[in-house]
Amino acid sequence: MAQVLIEQLGKRYTHSASAVAALQGVDLHIADGEFVTLVGASGCGKSTLLRILAGLETHTSGRVLCGGRPITGPGADRAMVFQHYSLYPWLTVMENIKFSRRLKVNRGGITSADVEAASGRADALLDLIGLSKVASAYPGQLSGGMQQRVAIARALMGRPDMLLMDEPFGALDAQTREVMHDLILHIHRVEKPTVVFVTHDVEEAIYLGQRVVLMQPRPGRIHSIYEVPLPAQRTQDMKHGAEFRALKSEILARIRESAGVNTDHDLLERLNAGSSTS
Ligand code: ADP
Ligand code: MG
Repeated sequence: MAQVLIEQLGKRYTHSASAVAALQGVDLHIADGEFVTLVGASGCGKSTLLRILAGLETHTSGRVLCGGRPITGPGADRAMVFQHYSLYPWLTVMENIKFSRRLKVNRGGITSADVEAASGRADALLDLIGLSKVASAYPGQLSGGMQQRVAIARALMGRPDMLLMDEPFGALDAQTREVMHDLILHIHRVEKPTVVFVTHDVEEAIYLGQRVVLMQPRPGRIHSIYEVPLPAQRTQDMKHGAEFRALKSEILARIRESAGVNTDHDLLERLNAGSSTS
C-alpha cells in the first residue's frame, strides 16, 4: 500500500551561502493507486518534493509517511524515473530491465525459482512497453522514447508501490510524448502503482493526472489542487474539449502570476493608454 501523507513539510537548503526555503508548509494526501501530477514555475520545489518521497533527500520540518511509515531513505517500494534515461549502455534492454534483480542474485539469498519468476516478469514488462522485439538491442541503438520505455520497465521490475517521475518525457519530441502519455496511463491501469509525476507542461499534467497539484516558488509551496474533470479512460481528443482548455488556461494564468509576470489586463491597458498620450 502506498498512500502518502505529507504534513507541514519543509525543506531548507542551508549549505549554500544563503539558505533557500525550497519547501514550506506543504500538506498533501495521496491515495493508494492515485495518479497525481505536480506543476509549477521553475524553482518551486517540485524536484525537491519528489526526491524527499524517493528518500534521496531529507526534509527539515513536518513529516512524510508512505504506507503509514516515515520515509527515511530509498526503498524497493518506491522507484524513480528521471528525465535522462540513465540506462547502462553496456547492457542489453533485457539486462537493463533485470539489473536490480541481478544485484540481488549477486548478494545471495535468491533461488533459481526467483530468477525464473523475474524473467517472466521482465518478459511481461517488455511486452507491456511494446519492445519485445528489441530485447537484445543496446540502449545506443534505440530512440529516446524507446530508451525511456526501458527505464520505466526497469523501475517497475521490483513491483514498486509508488512510481516517482521527474519530467520523464521532457527530452522527447511532441509526437513521442503523446505516445508515452497513453503508454504510462496504460501501465498505470495494469500495474496500479501510486504515481507522482512532475512536469512543467500543464497540458501533460492535466492529461495524465487525476489531480493536478499546482506549486509556487519562494518559498516552494502548494498554491492549489485541481480535480481533473475527465473520464478515467483518456483519449487525445479530450485535449480539445472545453473543460480541458478552461482548466489549462486557469492553471497557466496562476503559474504566470506566481512566476511574477503581471498579466493584469487593467494594468496593461493603463500602460498602453499612458504611452499613447505621452
Ligand atoms: P523545481 O524542480 O520545481 O524547479 P527544485 O526542487 O529543483 O525546484 O528547487 C527548489 C529550490 O531549491 C530552488 O530555489 C533551487 O535553486 C533550490 N535547490 C534545489 N536543490 C538544491 C540543492 N541541492 N542545494 C541548494 N539549493 C537547491
Ligand atoms: Mg525540477
